[in-house]
Amino acid sequence: MVSTFPTLSSVNLSQIRLKIRSLQPQLVDWRRRLHQRPELGFQEQMTSEFIAQKLQKWGIEHQTGIAKTGIVATIAGNRPGPVLAIRADMDALPIQEENDVPYRSLHEGKMHACGHDGHTAIALGTAYYLCQHREDFSGTVKMIFQPAEEGLGGAKSMIEEGVLSNPEVEAIIGLHLWNNLPIGTVGVRSGPLMAAVESFHCTIFGKGGHGAMPHQTVDSVLVSAQIVNALQTIVARNVNPLESAVVTIGELHAGTAHNVIADTARMSGTVRYFNSQLEGYFGKRFEELIAGVCQSHGASYDLNYWRLYPPVINDVNMADLVRSVATDVVETPVGVVPECQTMASEDMSFFLEAVPGCYFFLGSANPAADLAYPHHHPRFNFDETALGMGVEIFVRCVEKFCG
Ligand SMILES: [Zn+2]
Ligand SMILES: [Zn+2]
Repeated sequence: MVSTFPTLSSVNLSQIRLKIRSLQPQLVDWRRRLHQRPELGFQEQMTSEFIAQKLQKWGIEHQTGIAKTGIVATIAGNRPGPVLAIRADMDALPIQEENDVPYRSLHEGKMHACGHDGHTAIALGTAYYLCQHREDFSGTVKMIFQPAEEGLGGAKSMIEEGVLSNPEVEAIIGLHLWNNLPIGTVGVRSGPLMAAVESFHCTIFGKGGHGAMPHQTVDSVLVSAQIVNALQTIVARNVNPLESAVVTIGELHAGTAHNVIADTARMSGTVRYFNSQLEGYFGKRFEELIAGVCQSHGASYDLNYWRLYPPVINDVNMADLVRSVATDVVETPVGVVPECQTMASEDMSFFLEAVPGCYFFLGSANPAADLAYPHHHPRFNFDETALGMGVEIFVRCVEKFCG
């Protein structure tokens, strides 16, 4: 594929690498400090203060308190030019950490189990490097430190509060440390990378009664079972088989005793798909199928169905940029993996709906060092050599995009 971006000289490249390698102990230190103090979505006060203190010390212009705890830092190169944004999320998860490491979480029941501590450290390292090398790029880099990625859509709130304007952002990049890929690899693809996510809660109202006298009841367990089956037919029989989609019922609760027919049942679940044209379709089919099953059994229902995040869709040119840079950083084309699509979801999608950009996966698993647990696992941890690689990819993208 032909890149539309200029190539940096190899002398320049090795200088960047050496300088970034010298930052590695600092990156690890920041990441571990953040890891010890995980905070949930929109509550990232300490994390936000930690970032603001560093930006202040380095003389980087920044604005705090965006979407409660978000920060935007602006780093201008020494000539006018394009505006590129780099996004990092900062929030942790309500998980009790089970890792036995000196930097384990000090906050009971909270843990950086997705790697957002690493994302913040990488963004800090990138900001530090760029403010020291303003002569190497033109234009402006906006560093977006975003709260509340895990289900609360902090990205959307930040966009609503104007982070993409003044100056107007032309393109955006972001990364996720990724334990589904080994350290030393980068997952990049243009087009859909991660799925749209929708969610639902449904309560089925039957008529309870004696377990031996079903004819006097409307069994909410039986109705629910048929609904679970019916909902699976949307993927199996309604969606084009060449499209990817998932319907998962994650919760189903009913009943109080073995000999009692349950009056009500509650269920909840998640829906994923890549194709934006399917927006609205699943909600409509849920309503039709649940109404049909309930009506045929004399039950009633209350359905809440809503969209959380749109699909993460990468721009072709921006994916080209990241791919070409990643190939230099991992030093082998086979280290850049295009087969990295996942039905997991990310609110980076809101940024990518607003401006062209590329979200990519930075391989971070190292099974030999027992660093390969999946994201959101109480023993999730990653190979910290990925931190320097992340900074190097971001810095080189800036120098190519804003060269
Ligand atoms: Zn996560
Ligand atoms: Zn994440």
